Amino acid sequence: MERVYNFNPGPATLPVEVLREAQAEFLNFDNSGMSIVEISHRSKPYEKVHNQAKADILELMGLGDDYEVLFIQGGASLQFAMIPLNFATKEKPGAYVLSGTFASNAYKEAQNLGVGEIAASTKDENFKRVPRQDELKINPNAAYLHICNNNTIFGTEFHYVPETGNVPLFADMSSDMLSRPVDFKKFSLIYAGVQKNLGAAGVVVVVVKKSFVEKSLETLPTMLRYDTFYKKNSLYNTPPAFAIYIVGKVVAWIKNCGGLGEMERRNKIKAKLLYDAIDNSDGFYRGHAEKDSRSFMNVTFRLPNEELEKKFVAEALEKNLSGVKGHRSVGGMRASIYNAMPIEGAEALADFMDKFRKANS
Ligand code: PMP
Repeated sequence: MERVYNFNPGPATLPVEVLREAQAEFLNFDNSGMSIVEISHRSKPYEKVHNQAKADILELMGLGDDYEVLFIQGGASLQFAMIPLNFATKEKPGAYVLSGTFASNAYKEAQNLGVGEIAASTKDENFKRVPRQDELKINPNAAYLHICNNNTIFGTEFHYVPETGNVPLFADMSSDMLSRPVDFKKFSLIYAGVQKNLGAAGVVVVVVKKSFVEKSLETLPTMLRYDTFYKKNSLYNTPPAFAIYIVGKVVAWIKNCGGLGEMERRNKIKAKLLYDAIDNSDGFYRGHAEKDSRSFMNVTFRLPNEELEKKFVAEALEKNLSGVKGHRSVGGMRASIYNAMPIEGAEALADFMDKFRKANS
């Protein structure tokens, strides 16, 4: 069967080169006569994959050896809990910017533990933008400020790195990790569920300043302590080897393409194609995000009515444009255009949007 242009928000499209490589070596990895999913996580061939993926991630982010890459299971959702468990207390709470569903879910975990507070929120505006720097009320005594860098559901993204004074900055970058150069050194902890920009579901990449994870609270269960992962090179127990292997291939692919600058160049072209289709539609398409908060990864928009929205989804699929239906909390459409979405995919969708509008307005 022909492959479609896959605009799903995650799990999401992966580079075809990566899928082909994984397919080609699936039965016999690195001349071992075994598949990557059949070999020991303590074996040399696996260790090579694991360590290379870590090194490539730091290299792409321009970070040195004061940072560590951890591979942790439980999805980005477990990070929502691990972060306050490891770092926040009643005296030094975690501060949260509420800019969408996942940002709010992260806050809820801290709130459940009685160690969270809100630094800013755009909930009253149905999260159509991220808060501005001047709206952030950061408690100088906070253990960290947590932001969600790209709001997958609402289609908004931080286009600035918040200034936090002495408060460490933590970010959920699940849906825009390695999509463009960012001054990553300004962050003390960054995490991303890999199933959008980095690979197949099953692992979270946590990039963290070593000084934050050298020693965790001893009262925490072993698997909820960051130092368990740090001290054992994320090999305390069996890691999700296949998911990490795919991450390794995706980051190698990003490097081969030219790195984060090249990802940004491509992502901006794709985003512009779709936002232009919205802006030049005489109001037929209405973007959810305010212009200066627009995401380069998830483009959200409504049509004149729900009937047309259903028709749009169905006709798009006939044109091999899959996964454009939006999340119920915004309604309408959402086109996710992560790193692996080719420019031709965005061109095809923009072209379809144009034709659909002319046929239906
Ligand atoms: N954060 C963001 C920004 C997300 O988009 C998602 C998932 N869509 C999550 C967190 C939750 O990730 P997971 O399903 O890996 O727990």
